[in-house]
Amino acid sequence: MSIAENVAEIRARMNAAAVAAGRDPGEISLLAATKMNDADRVREAVAAGVDACGENRVQELVQKQPLGAYQGVPIHFIGHLQTNKVNKVVGKVDLIESVDRMELLQAVNNTALRLGVCQDILFEVNIGGEAQKGGFTPEETVQLAAKMGDYPGVRLRGLMAIPPISEKKGDNCIYFAKMRNLFIDIRDKKYDNVSMVCLSMGMTDDFEDAIAEGSTMIRVGTAIFGARNYAKT
Ligand SMILES: *Cc1c(COP(=O)(O)O)cnc(C)c1O
Repeated sequence: MSIAENVAEIRARMNAAAVAAGRDPGEISLLAATKMNDADRVREAVAAGVDACGENRVQELVQKQPLGAYQGVPIHFIGHLQTNKVNKVVGKVDLIESVDRMELLQAVNNTALRLGVCQDILFEVNIGGEAQKGGFTPEETVQLAAKMGDYPGVRLRGLMAIPPISEKKGDNCIYFAKMRNLFIDIRDKKYDNVSMVCLSMGMTDDFEDAIAEGSTMIRVGTAIFGARNYAKT
């Protein structure tokens, strides 16, 4: 199947999942997770109508962006970001979805202030409480959202999560529901410098469950581009 056919099929599944949940399909966007796909394939996905692109690695972002790979849609950073690479990302992407620790929040804020830009961010939440994973706890997330007035270089736009790897369909619904509640909690408090518009959750294997539980942006790689060949790198 071509990238365009894959995107069309995902759209149909997104619409069905939204309708089944009594939601407006128009409020859910499709981000293409483009890691390990070259600029030509990324352009193909953009032409097929994805709403945004997301890169995991700084190296791939700086390589593909000058080639116009993402032209026409917003580009998000969605991977682990080292503080010494923040200057290659801040001001160059529309949204950093993976702000997962204090040190990174401070580095992004300071860099944005130095550049004179305001960087939109999401907080990544470790919703499964997994020891090996980054991300704020739900408690830290609420506390930090209340303090966003102290970080004028950034604007908090929502939350992102990667739940634990699940054994069967439906296993992650509990985590997605927790994320939705956290998202709504923070949104309703109307904190300074916070405008909660994006709840980024759901990937190839679980995006329908994520939509059922309130996701506003799914991040899909494999179902768009096919399986990634890690042996090649
Ligand atoms: C790779 C990746 C995805 C997409 O994963 P698939 O299972 O291939 O759809 C989504 N989010 C992040 C942060 C990723 O790194």
